[in-house]
Amino acid sequence: MKKLIYADNAATTRLNKAAFEAMIPWLLEEYGNASQPYAFARKPKNALAEARTTIAECINALPEEIFFTSGGTESDNWAIKGSAFADDEKRATITSSFEHDAVLHSCKAIERLGFPVAYLMPTADGVITAPALNGMISNTTRLVSVMYANNEIGTIQPIKELCDVAHVHGALFHTDAVQAIGHVEVDVQKIGVDMLSASAHKFNGPKGIGFLYIRKGTKILRYADGGAQESVHRAGTENIASIVGMAIALKENFSRLKNNMLYIKSLEVRLLEGLRNAHIPFVCNGGNNTLPGLISLSFSGADGEAILHRMDLMGISISTGSACDSANAEISHVLKAIQLGETLAKGTIRISLGSNNTEEDVDSIVGALAKILRQTR
Ligand code: PLP
Repeated sequence: MKKLIYADNAATTRLNKAAFEAMIPWLLEEYGNASQPYAFARKPKNALAEARTTIAECINALPEEIFFTSGGTESDNWAIKGSAFADDEKRATITSSFEHDAVLHSCKAIERLGFPVAYLMPTADGVITAPALNGMISNTTRLVSVMYANNEIGTIQPIKELCDVAHVHGALFHTDAVQAIGHVEVDVQKIGVDMLSASAHKFNGPKGIGFLYIRKGTKILRYADGGAQESVHRAGTENIASIVGMAIALKENFSRLKNNMLYIKSLEVRLLEGLRNAHIPFVCNGGNNTLPGLISLSFSGADGEAILHRMDLMGISISTGSACDSANAEISHVLKAIQLGETLAKGTIRISLGSNNTEEDVDSIVGALAKILRQTR
């Protein structure tokens, strides 16, 4: 059988083997409920505390500032809705027009309930600038939410600058760091954010688990009522196995972060050079400061959907945009936001390389693209 080349790591990543192995005992042997007072619950309780500490250390937070959730979507919902509903006086939210739907749809939901939301537009390079935020923010703004790095074009945002603007105006700052955590350095003290969303399956952890960092003292409504789990902020029996797996995966990614970044960036350079050497004209979206290996390419006059399916037939998995948008044949809201022309937008694909990819994978991707694009021209 032909080897599958997986180049859609922004959609999800392969589970780290050490994380997988660390999860097994919590499913088969130490399956006690961490909330119970007896001895059999002690180990899961300790594992929960250890995982919280490990994750907190990776992002320079305190353990009590880490709240486990079911993933990025839940963390984003909680940050947006929980802060809107926590303050009767400051009701306005500012976000960007090219956030993930988990943020955008949460914003639409609070708008339907009468909370004002304003949307910042990125530059053509995919950047949300501090002056743009400065021009929009007022003393009625409760929350600013801007993603750490865009999931379709990879642009890393000037989070510290944006956060500083929010704080000067007395607003909270949330960042959806789902694509960034485990791939670039993320330090909540350096950037100063009040809330940060993360999802384990984007950094080689299991699916269906994530966390929301909430800075100590931040006023936010609890996410779920019920038991006393997560300091009475998010009720529900904890998913110990997945939480342990997430902590191990994050720790492993952090320990190899610099090497991985260099390696993946070298694959990205090889891919772009390969396309140039094959004389394939392309536009690379997202500007100069992007996540390593997240490559948004536009081929004028080509059909991104058709390229995806042809690549699939050749055993190569890529994407046209965000994983969650793949059922939607319309031009993505991200490409619209950066005002990419329609001919380029329709011919756009996203390749997202990971540490599992090799130079041979990259050469095969270039070869496949060259073949497809030559045939369609
Ligand atoms: N935010 C961003 C930027 C994402 O890329 C994704 C997933 O693609 C999410 C949120 C949703 O995360 P999850 O799949 O864990 O719900």
